[in-house]
Amino acid sequence: MTDKYAVLGNPISHSKSPLIHRMFAEQTGQDISYEAIEAPLDGFAAKIEELRAKGYKGCNVTVPFKVEAFNLANQLSQKSLEAEAVNTLKFEGDAIIGDNTDGAGLVRDIEQNLGIPLKGKRILLIGAGGAAQGVLHPILATEPKQLVISNRTPDKALALKKSVKNDVVSVEAVGFGELDNAQFDVIINATSAGLTDSEIPIPSTIFAPGALAYDMMYGRETPFMAFARQHGARVADGLGMLVEQAAEAFCLWRRVRPETKPVRDRLRLS
Ligand code: NDP
Repeated sequence: MTDKYAVLGNPISHSKSPLIHRMFAEQTGQDISYEAIEAPLDGFAAKIEELRAKGYKGCNVTVPFKVEAFNLANQLSQKSLEAEAVNTLKFEGDAIIGDNTDGAGLVRDIEQNLGIPLKGKRILLIGAGGAAQGVLHPILATEPKQLVISNRTPDKALALKKSVKNDVVSVEAVGFGELDNAQFDVIINATSAGLTDSEIPIPSTIFAPGALAYDMMYGRETPFMAFARQHGARVADGLGMLVEQAAEAFCLWRRVRPETKPVRDRLRLS
């Protein structure tokens, strides 16, 4: 029998997740269906109950329901506890298992697909919203030399820094105005500034020779990407992360790891 999965968000019509998971299923020979469902803003929990009653095996969760999914799950992975958010749910009997695959997806894209090990690197994480929180601990687990969190609202960067228990890596929180004398090997934009084509006021001197500038947004060149390119950095968007976080979720549900390269290649063409 076909096992049913879905992605829940609001809005959701733009989601590439159904296409990605259908390609994974075809490639691995898994008999699953996967659809995009727009849950009402005040009806996420009821929608999850409905899906469980209909025999769905799990779902992905996106904006704005990741924290609600975290509160709804009755079994939480270490990664979701660190992120305080859930992007993947698995339904098993009475268990609603919550995981967060965003951070693993980002690290896998940078280390394996782009070939840049993060261990020993100086990393700048720009942003302190849900996406930054989701990737913070998986980045620290790679043992970078230094991690600086910078945000438009510096207090939020400070709060994120305070959530870090790891005392192996040096973690700092600063405002954009305090980046003047710093250089980084990897600069990750986890803000939503690209959605409004807004520039981020960071100095052009932050890019170390050979630096990677990674924007978690995908679909178009953001001002951050253009700025980084102009100042000599290698640039990547978040499409690889999107596919890798989906592969982690597929693996959790189906216990088989799909190849991500053909899926990335196909999405870049569409
Ligand atoms: P949130 O709303 O939780 O946080 C937004 C962040 O962006 C805050 O740090 C905010 O700063 C900052 N910000 C917004 N506008 C500006 C601006 N004009 N200049 C500087 N900083 C700005 O959003 P999320 O964290 O959930 O999402 C952030 C991005 O990550 C989105 O674009 C999303 O698409 C992307 N993403 C990509 C994924 C992928 O798989 N590739 C997965 C998850 C997210 P402040 O605190 O000052 O308001």
